[in-house]
Amino acid sequence: MKLIFTFLLLLPLCLFAQPQQPVEEWTGKTILLIGGHPDDDHQSHGTLAMLKDHGNDVHILILTTGNVGTKDPKISRNDLSIIRRQEQLDAMKAIGLSEENYINLGYDDGRVEFADREELVGKLVYYIRKLKPNVLMAFDPGYNYQVWQKSDHRAAAYLAADAARAAEWRLLYEGQVIHGGLDAHAVEEYLFYGGNIPDKNTRVNITEYADQRVEAGMKYVSQFSSGWKDYLGADLSKYPDGEEQKLRDGISGRIMVEDGKSYERFRYYKGAPDGLGHGKRD
Ligand SMILES: [Zn+2]
Repeated sequence: MKLIFTFLLLLPLCLFAQPQQPVEEWTGKTILLIGGHPDDDHQSHGTLAMLKDHGNDVHILILTTGNVGTKDPKISRNDLSIIRRQEQLDAMKAIGLSEENYINLGYDDGRVEFADREELVGKLVYYIRKLKPNVLMAFDPGYNYQVWQKSDHRAAAYLAADAARAAEWRLLYEGQVIHGGLDAHAVEEYLFYGGNIPDKNTRVNITEYADQRVEAGMKYVSQFSSGWKDYLGADLSKYPDGEEQKLRDGISGRIMVEDGKSYERFRYYKGAPDGLGHGKRD
């Protein structure tokens, strides 16, 4: 009973957290998405395409090269790293973004949690201070509890939140401020992806951009097609019969559709990063 009461009490707080100005009306903002692998942005591609189209400045920062993500025994780490960079750039092109909107920190896939944390947060702080995002998009680190994500996603969630916090304190990574000409920067708003559905308080109508999301998703041939096990190159016509249609159906099928409209869902948070993982506390 007590649990139900607590849930009912927290639910409105969560629901009311959605942005005063709907995401569909955002314009003139700078958006930075932080992800672990070159394709972690895919579940937000409709929203990113829309934000770009509506005159926002959109950047994608990926921590790793994705050089481990294959079940094809013929592919080396180096080859996969090159393949996945191109897939990422092709996908970004499909949603209106170019190479200048892309940052890859070059860490090894699957190893982020073992990387030097102070150094990695410092790199993220640098880009937050340089790009000055109004909105940070990241894996959801959790609301009122920690969300389990697989290793690089888990690391990316916490690193993004920790970097947002560090970026606003001028005496943290102060060399960037004193010697690098950067200012401390406070991120005002957050859109978290990849979290639990009950925690998501915002849905974005991406109907007009669903086709772009599908086209972008189809660029990740090494990840979402049978190329995952037997990579035959980026050209889908070189794959077994019907592969292109199968891939298109699979990617389209993952989009949430209600009453004929397509949506992406997020947990929105506004405020100091210290509070992004929980409701009001004494
Ligand atoms: Zn990933």
